[in-house]
Amino acid sequence: MPPVSSVRPLISAEAIQARVRELGAAISHDYQGKDLVVVGVLKGAFVFLADLVRAIELPVAVDFLSVASYGAGTESSGVVRLIEDLSLPIEGKHVLLVEDIVDTGLTASYLLDNLATRRPASLRLCALLHKPARCRVEVPIAYRGFVVEDVFLVGYGLDHDQRFRNLPYIGVLPGRE
Ligand code: 5GP
Repeated sequence: MPPVSSVRPLISAEAIQARVRELGAAISHDYQGKDLVVVGVLKGAFVFLADLVRAIELPVAVDFLSVASYGAGTESSGVVRLIEDLSLPIEGKHVLLVEDIVDTGLTASYLLDNLATRRPASLRLCALLHKPARCRVEVPIAYRGFVVEDVFLVGYGLDHDQRFRNLPYIGVLPGRE
């Protein structure tokens, strides 16, 4: 396991917090008077979601689901498996799906299709990071934090082998670039 000191900082904690406040303000504006459920995709989105909901000035409900992608290492295979489902129905609710990063787009695409079958009043995606270079499925990202290069990122919820999720910033892991 590489040490934390080997992670090259890319997006500072301050830059993340400023962007999260902007996203929160936009979401608060757009969902005024609506019954909003924010759905976090575990595990990667838990840090972003925790900050994002505190930047939303609406009485939001929060739920989670957990997915796994079959495939070797960090490559998404495209076959997504729902490990843990939502705890509450979303029929008739305005749902905002929150992802840490949209890479190939396969996970988000699977989840949007899956959630749409439950007949929410509306369904949108919020992703902190977007790596367009590796896109395999175009997914509409209604709220996007940062566009990033095709490098392997850790921190602020993103892991390498379950480590580095607790870094307050986002960095590049050497050797995986
Ligand atoms: P997608 O299905 O869009 O290819 O992949 C989405 C998932 O792949 C993310 O939720 C995340 O778990 C993982 N992922 C994609 N790129 C990175 C990255 O640069 N770093 C880390 N730690 N995970 C990534």
